[in-house]
Amino acid sequence: MKKVLILGSTGSIGTNTLEVIRHFKNKFEVVGISGHSNIDLLSEQIKEFKPKYLGITKNENYKKLKKQFSDLEYFTGSKCLENMARDIEYDIIVVSVVGAVGLKPVIEAVKRGKRVAIANKEPLVIAGEYIMKMAKKNNAEILPIDSEHSAIFQSLKNEKTKNLSKILLTASGGPFFDKKIDFKTITPKVALKHPNWSMGQKISIDSATLMNKGLEVIEAKWLFDVTPSKIRVVIHPQSIIHSMVEYKDGSIIAQLGVADMKVPIQYALSYPDRYQNDFEKLDFFKLKELTFFKPNVKKFKCLKLAFESIKIGGIMPTVLNASNEIAVYGFLKEKIRFDQIAEVVENSLEKFSSENNYDLDSVFEIDKRTRLFSKNQIKNLSL
Ligand code: NAD
Ligand code: MG
Repeated sequence: MKKVLILGSTGSIGTNTLEVIRHFKNKFEVVGISGHSNIDLLSEQIKEFKPKYLGITKNENYKKLKKQFSDLEYFTGSKCLENMARDIEYDIIVVSVVGAVGLKPVIEAVKRGKRVAIANKEPLVIAGEYIMKMAKKNNAEILPIDSEHSAIFQSLKNEKTKNLSKILLTASGGPFFDKKIDFKTITPKVALKHPNWSMGQKISIDSATLMNKGLEVIEAKWLFDVTPSKIRVVIHPQSIIHSMVEYKDGSIIAQLGVADMKVPIQYALSYPDRYQNDFEKLDFFKLKELTFFKPNVKKFKCLKLAFESIKIGGIMPTVLNASNEIAVYGFLKEKIRFDQIAEVVENSLEKFSSENNYDLDSVFEIDKRTRLFSKNQIKNLSL
């Protein structure tokens, strides 16, 4: 029995992780879960999976849950995630919170040499170098849940990295890739409708701007130790090929399957083993076509900005991520327009371009300053 701690169990990846575990109750035991605001779902999860530990960020929610479940051990407040990652006994931590809040718990888990099944891409974007170095030092395993990175991870197995020619990172293109649409007119409701995947709000907007792919380029750079010039983004609207690796001799290895996050989640839990499941399987005879396009970086400026930030490196990806997080929530609250997400990010990259201090402390510092700067931009833009 492997003990699993799930941070962000109420989200899209969190609930899919519990769905996987529901199928393999003889292999995995949920020792801890955490949530932020959806306490009804959290209560249901507590009743079903009976974890020993519960993380809850908001104090008023803690009080409500404590009345209902008095015998649980609670972690509360803004530090609850990192405290859980540091103090609880577990074998695998699934990091499925959204945004930079996942960084500190990832660091704690890595320090303890744990298996980190990571969906939460933002920590790798802002401190990937640091996380990977620490993981190596402490023999921690970082196993990607992001479908593209799981595909790359599987395509790289048993191959020598020196033979790698390029990574072909596939992207669905989101809801707007082939549409003639004025970005100024896009509302949150329209942008949240992803053609292939049902996901949390932040990643859905990131998919619509293609910032998600930009973040994934940076994620891939750190996970697989490749320079960004070796990473090509390929728009593949059917989301059947989850990514590919091309080798020096021209051979390309890909991983395919239906668009179902349970598959990469299960693999990150079962690795190096594979378990039989009854999830939907790919039927080639039902596939109409597989198509591929070059991304239009003039239209999707966020992808270009992400490439630029990682080419410069240092704290620039931290600035990119922090300003994007603030801009996305600004857009969701209808304070700025869809096209202004890229504008906020671009201005932030410009503003902090001369900063060159790059260690973990400066990452946290720059993250904070960028958020403030971006909030001010949003205030001015929405006047
Ligand atoms: P989501 O919005 O559905 O869920 C987020 C989870 O984080 C929830 O459990 C929420 O309670 C928790 N959370 C939110 N803010 C928090 C805070 N401040 N403190 C503590 N907990 C907080 O998001 P999601 O779609 O499941 O995505 C989670 C992560 O996985 C993201 O980083 C995303 O980029 C990545 N990811 C998601 C998918 C997908 O299919 N959904 C695919 C690949 C990668
Ligand atoms: Mg992805």
